[in-house]
Amino acid sequence: MVEPQRYTRDYKPVVFAAQRPMHRLLWFVAGIGIPLICIALITPSNNTEPNQPTPVVAVDPGTDMLDIDAGAMPAPGDASAPIAEAAATEVAPARLPGTELTMIVRRGDSLDRLFKRNHLSRTDLANIMDLKVARQHLRLIKPGDEIVVRREQGRILRLERTISISEVLNVRRTDDGFTAETRREALESRPAHATGTIKSSLFLAAADAGISDRTIMNLAGIFAWDVDFMLDIRQGDQFTVVYEEMWKDGKRVAEGNILAAEFINQGESFRAIRFEDAGSRVDYFTPDGKSVRKAFLRAPLTFSRISSNFNPRRRHPKLNTIRAHKGVDYAAATGTPIRAAGDGKIIHRGRKGGYGNAVILQHGGNITTLYAHMSRFASGHIGKRVRQGDIIGYVGSTGLATGPHLHYEYRRNGVHLNPRTVKLPDAAPLKPDYLADFQRVAAPLLQQLDATPTLLADSST
Ligand SMILES: [Zn+2]
Repeated sequence: MVEPQRYTRDYKPVVFAAQRPMHRLLWFVAGIGIPLICIALITPSNNTEPNQPTPVVAVDPGTDMLDIDAGAMPAPGDASAPIAEAAATEVAPARLPGTELTMIVRRGDSLDRLFKRNHLSRTDLANIMDLKVARQHLRLIKPGDEIVVRREQGRILRLERTISISEVLNVRRTDDGFTAETRREALESRPAHATGTIKSSLFLAAADAGISDRTIMNLAGIFAWDVDFMLDIRQGDQFTVVYEEMWKDGKRVAEGNILAAEFINQGESFRAIRFEDAGSRVDYFTPDGKSVRKAFLRAPLTFSRISSNFNPRRRHPKLNTIRAHKGVDYAAATGTPIRAAGDGKIIHRGRKGGYGNAVILQHGGNITTLYAHMSRFASGHIGKRVRQGDIIGYVGSTGLATGPHLHYEYRRNGVHLNPRTVKLPDAAPLKPDYLADFQRVAAPLLQQLDATPTLLADSST
């Protein structure tokens, strides 16, 4: 499966910063701004701002202006100003005291500095940071982060920070200090789909199709037992993904699970359907109910954006001209993690002639796999059991190697076989009790995979 560390490096996060929707600003301009301008024209020296210090640059001006005025708005129920009332109820229910301020963290900011710049009580800050939950979610701030406070004369009444797309830190003033808690926000899941054809790289095709790196990496993870995403991807390969989109407050905030996917690799089609059984076990299955998992991964390297920079049609000339080559070479950056292709036991871990630093695993069915030229080993020892996907070492160029790469061999009864084409035994199918359930879930998803061209035409409008 996909490896979290690489993930953070490769995954382009969806920006979900709680930017104020434009229409609020429009409400402000239409409902408040114009009357205020009129007032200003009548009484030129009139100061329309209540006793708040003028916010500095870090403040989102739209938000703050709106809120300063929101405080002066008529209470809901006052029919004399219907437009203003609409804006007021949306932004700040009138019964909440104080005014709202959105602070945006700048480079070099500490919380202390942020509070000072916005004329907020640093005693309050210290008291808030005494709370474990608050400290946990406020300790680390980075430029661009937003912290929303409701304040009155610099006193903090409330503080909120978005922790993740579905979680918010909520700090409130009480009679004797502050309380802090995290609150889950409901996300709405909407079905979505995307389809693409590979012209140069899988990631470019994904970008063209409008899906994130994360989703395409997940897709590669789903088909990791059938397709070698590092060596077998060709121009013209196609994919279709039916997935969830997560929405909050009318905005798309993230891509969720892949519900169904198809990958057509060199003319061969692979399909997978997500299914959660009654025991809450989630996995992907072929349309006829077999697990996509197999005893061996096709490629023992994590497919990543870094390795995808190789042109899929280009061969690694030097590495592939070695005569009587008994394995597969994967060119990859030094340090790229190498994974156990299947469950097994370490039977060699150390130097091995031209192989350099090598690991050999013994698997069931008298199969062994060998991983060579490692720069270093992951923790482990001879006799240790490993699970499929466990990291056993890192790519390097030790031994007879022309550059950093993984040399991978697969043997059955001592005979070399091509790990990319060897027939792998089918994994266990779904339990018969779940089959009817699975078919009920799979049917509409398979229809969506079948209907892709039509959907494509629809989405282009
Ligand atoms: Zn080799």
